[in-house]
Amino acid sequence: MGVPKAYHQVAVTRVRELGLRLGFAVLIAFAAAYASSPLLPAAWLAAVVASQVLNAALGLGAARDPGFAPTRAWEGGYLVSQAVNSVVFASIGPFLWFQCGAEGPLLALVVLMGGLLNIGTQPATTGRLLWCGVAPYALTLGALPIVTLLRDPHASAVEMGFLDVGAGLYLLHVLRAVRRRDEAARETAEALQHAEQASAAKSTFLATMSHEIRTPLNGVLGMAQAMERDRLSATQRKRLGVIRQSGSVLLTLLNDLLDISKVESGRLELEDGLLDLQEMADQARDAFAALAANKGVGLAVEVSPDAAGVWRTDPTRVRQILYNLLSNAVKFTERGSVTATLDLDAEGRLRIQVRDTGVGIPAADLPSLFGRFVQGDASVTRRFGGSGLGLAISRELARLMGGDLTAESTAGVGSTFTAVLPLTRGVRPQAREDERHEPIDVSGLRAVVAEDNETNRLVIATILDQLGMVARLAVDGSEALEAWRTEAWDLVLMDIQMPVMDGVEATRRIREIERDERRPHTPIVALTANAMSHHLAEYAAAGFDAVATKPIQIAALLAAIQTAMAAGGEPAEARRRRA
Ligand code: ADP
Repeated sequence: MGVPKAYHQVAVTRVRELGLRLGFAVLIAFAAAYASSPLLPAAWLAAVVASQVLNAALGLGAARDPGFAPTRAWEGGYLVSQAVNSVVFASIGPFLWFQCGAEGPLLALVVLMGGLLNIGTQPATTGRLLWCGVAPYALTLGALPIVTLLRDPHASAVEMGFLDVGAGLYLLHVLRAVRRRDEAARETAEALQHAEQASAAKSTFLATMSHEIRTPLNGVLGMAQAMERDRLSATQRKRLGVIRQSGSVLLTLLNDLLDISKVESGRLELEDGLLDLQEMADQARDAFAALAANKGVGLAVEVSPDAAGVWRTDPTRVRQILYNLLSNAVKFTERGSVTATLDLDAEGRLRIQVRDTGVGIPAADLPSLFGRFVQGDASVTRRFGGSGLGLAISRELARLMGGDLTAESTAGVGSTFTAVLPLTRGVRPQAREDERHEPIDVSGLRAVVAEDNETNRLVIATILDQLGMVARLAVDGSEALEAWRTEAWDLVLMDIQMPVMDGVEATRRIREIERDERRPHTPIVALTANAMSHHLAEYAAAGFDAVATKPIQIAALLAAIQTAMAAGGEPAEARRRRA
């Protein structure tokens, strides 16, 4: 015994079944009183109630707390209380046996054997706790025939001997049942542990693989972007379009796999940010317009006036839900229309509803629709493609936001998916309008670029070259630091995860040297796939001025450079003024 969890389980069972045991005691007391006199049975019943209630009260704390850790004193007290309970309950045995007429011994056997079985097979009752509970019943059971022999000269030694042997066998059976139950419980626990380990291994595998696949994919997408800016023939441009399109699909798939592995390991987190509903709706319409038009399907994305405005939430994740639903709706609709409505429900929660007049979903498939890797049927997969992850992730996200995602559908008629999100309103930041500068001209800017991965280095070098920038490439943070020291640079583009010295450390050192040697502030842009808010806070603290996420998008890179140059100019200016 001594396993804290076991005490919790025992206490839960004993507290829960207190009423049942007391009811049973009342029944036994009645039978005893009926067969004999009421005085002793009444006293016995009072003692049973007192000892059982005391035992339940003692176990209440353990029953309420799954992580209950017993002290030595508590454990001792509980064991004594368990023994007292059994002694008191079993004490009706001799009374029934000797005082209740011809049926008395039979009744005594039923009560004692029943008590023994009940206490022995309570969940998690093993070791000392088992013996404290079982021994009083077993001893009484064994003693009754012997005492009978001693008291009654006419009693048959053979008959009483058989009774004792029977009692012993019965005890053995109960103990064997306990052992089998414990073995089964241990096997279940082991199987559960194996399953959990396997699931964790699978999640790690998914996460590792999607990270590993991402790097070469960045190469494909980055170079395709760079080539798009080259002079190409119409055929080449078309082929390049296929490469880019396929690359984006792969990237979405990878992101979904990564999300699902986060869901499974409970590491999917929401960011805090602002979402402009109208802006999201417009972008969504733009993103799916061509796809819908190609199929001859109408597309509308409407924002009701009362829902319009800015909401406080993780904007990327809300967009992900809407895009998943729209993508499915367009995918599974051959004629008719797809309509997304963004409004408020009766309780004022944001509601995203996507309706389509597509193939619909058979009623039998609806309940399992949100499972992972679940798709309508094999023919659906072949016809429409997809991974069966989108809905599972979307529902998980909606639930993380405190809401839910549900579906209604009629096969052959269409489907309606509804996400209800209890979000709070946000305030549009003041500076937003000023941020819309003209695109920055970066040609002629000189930059140190730190990137350890060869493919990524090639991609960024190609893109910077196309933009007319001069790049000094470095393979890690320490090389970048050296390069930065030896000459004056307009800019540093810094990967985060690098061997020898990572980007955060290199940036911290650069800022230190700038301070110590009163050098002007060099704008530094982080290049990273990790852009959760806690990462961003860490980058800002290290001295980064802006972040561009990987896979590199040229427009986003330019915006980050612009932000960094604007932020970088100020401290340098201020320092010059001070000097
Ligand atoms: P995927 O679309 O990648 O297969 P999802 O999780 O997004 O994965 O969808 C799971 C399944 O739900 C789909 O394969 C399809 O059978 C069904 N489904 C989802 N949306 C719709 C819809 N709008 N109309 C009909 N079936 C749908």
